[in-house]
Amino acid sequence: MKVSLIALGCKVNQYESESIAKKLKDNGVSVSFNLEPSDVFVLSTCAVTNEAERKSRGYIAKIKKISPKAKIYVLGCSSQNNPSSFAKFEGVYAVYGTGKKMDIADLILKSKKGSNNKIDINYEDNFTPLPSHTRAYIKIQDGCNNFCSYCLIPYLRGRSRSRNFESVKAEIAMHAKTSKEVILTGIDLSSYGLDLSPKSSLIEVAKIFKEFPCLRFRFSSLEAGIITPEFLEILKGLDNFCPHFHLSMQSGCDKTLKDMNRHYTSAEFLEKIKLIRKFFPNAAITTDVIVGFPTETEEDFEASYQTCKKANFAFIHIFPYSKRSGTVATKFPNLATNVKERVGKLTKLRDEMATAFVKKLKGKAFGLLVEAKLSADGEPCGHTENFIKCYLKKGTKVVPNNIYKVKIIEPYKDGAMVSLEEK
Ligand code: SF4
Repeated sequence: MKVSLIALGCKVNQYESESIAKKLKDNGVSVSFNLEPSDVFVLSTCAVTNEAERKSRGYIAKIKKISPKAKIYVLGCSSQNNPSSFAKFEGVYAVYGTGKKMDIADLILKSKKGSNNKIDINYEDNFTPLPSHTRAYIKIQDGCNNFCSYCLIPYLRGRSRSRNFESVKAEIAMHAKTSKEVILTGIDLSSYGLDLSPKSSLIEVAKIFKEFPCLRFRFSSLEAGIITPEFLEILKGLDNFCPHFHLSMQSGCDKTLKDMNRHYTSAEFLEKIKLIRKFFPNAAITTDVIVGFPTETEEDFEASYQTCKKANFAFIHIFPYSKRSGTVATKFPNLATNVKERVGKLTKLRDEMATAFVKKLKGKAFGLLVEAKLSADGEPCGHTENFIKCYLKKGTKVVPNNIYKVKIIEPYKDGAMVSLEEK
C-alpha cells in the first residue's frame, strides 16, 4: 500500500502529518509527502483564511484526478469547520477535524471508514515523526485561549494544552542524534506549560537545550507578552539559541489592536522589540500584519504603517483581512478601503527593510546550516541562526546538514550572498 500525505497550512499540521506517516511506516506502509499516484491520501486541511479553505477543498479534485480510485482521509481545521464540504465527495473514507488525529493511521491500516468532529480537551500525544536530517519541527502545544476577534482557530482547535515535558525532552534528545536544528512549534507556543501540573513554561523547554550543545533551536512564533528581561537573559545564556524572533503584531494601530482583541499597544510592542535588540543586537525580528481589518480607516492604516517603520522588521508576512464566519470581527462595520494599495505600500516598505537588515550585517560572521536542496540556480544555500536565507557561490564545496562559518557579502535574492570563512 502506498500512502501520500499532504499537509496544508501551518507547521503544526505538517508535524501531525509526519506523525501519522511514522506510524504507517512502522507498519510497513510506503509513504510519500507529494501529490503523486497512491492508494490512499491523507489531507491535512487549513482554515486560517477563506482562501486556505477553498484550497483545502480544491485538493480533493486534484487527488481524484491523479488517483481516481484512491481512498481519501481528511483531517484538520477546515474539515473541523465544515465536515460536510468534504464528506460529500465519493472516495472520502474519513472526515476528522482537529481531534483524535492519530486514529487516522489505524483506520488506514485496517482500511476502515470513520469520522470525528469532537475537539480534544487534553493534549493528543502524537507518534514521534521520523528523524529529519537538517531542520526538524517539534510540536509541543495545541489550541489557543486568546480569541483574537478575526481568528477561528480557538473555535477549531480548542483550548490551549501542552505536551508532557518529559515527552518533549525525549524528542529533543532523539533529534540531537541526527539533526542540527529544531524549531519548537505550537498554535500559541508562548502559553506552553501554563496548563501543566506542576506548571511549566517555554523557557523551561529552552533550558533543555543546555544538555544538547550541538543542536541549535528556535521558536516558530511568539506572542509579545512572553518577552521579558528574564526570558531574554536565559536565552542569552544558551549558545545554541537562534536569535530569530517571529513576534506576531497583526497591527501597529492601537485602535485596531483593541478591535482585534490583542492585548498590547503599539508603544508596548515597540518596547519589546527594543528589549530584544538590547540582548540580541543582530537578531532578526519578523512579524505578521493584517491589512484591511474591518475597522481600519486610512488613518489607522497609516498608524500601523508608521509602527512597522519604527520597528524596522527583518521581514513582514502581510495578510489581507479574510472575513471568517463565526468570528467577532464579522460584526464590525467594514470601513476598510483601498486594501490592495495598502498591501502594496506595506510590501514596498517590507522589502526595503529586509534589504536594509542584510546590509546592516555586511561583513559580519554567522553559522550557515546548509540545506540538502540547491537553489534554482544551483547555488548551495541555507539559513543562518538569525534566519537569513543565504547563498554561496555555485560550486562551493559544502556538505548539507552541516553548519559553516560564513560572512555576509551583500543582499542577494530573498536574502544574502555569503562567503565561506571556515568550517
Ligand atoms: S493567538 Fe490569536 S491569531 Fe493566533 S491562533 Fe490564537 S486567536 Fe488565532
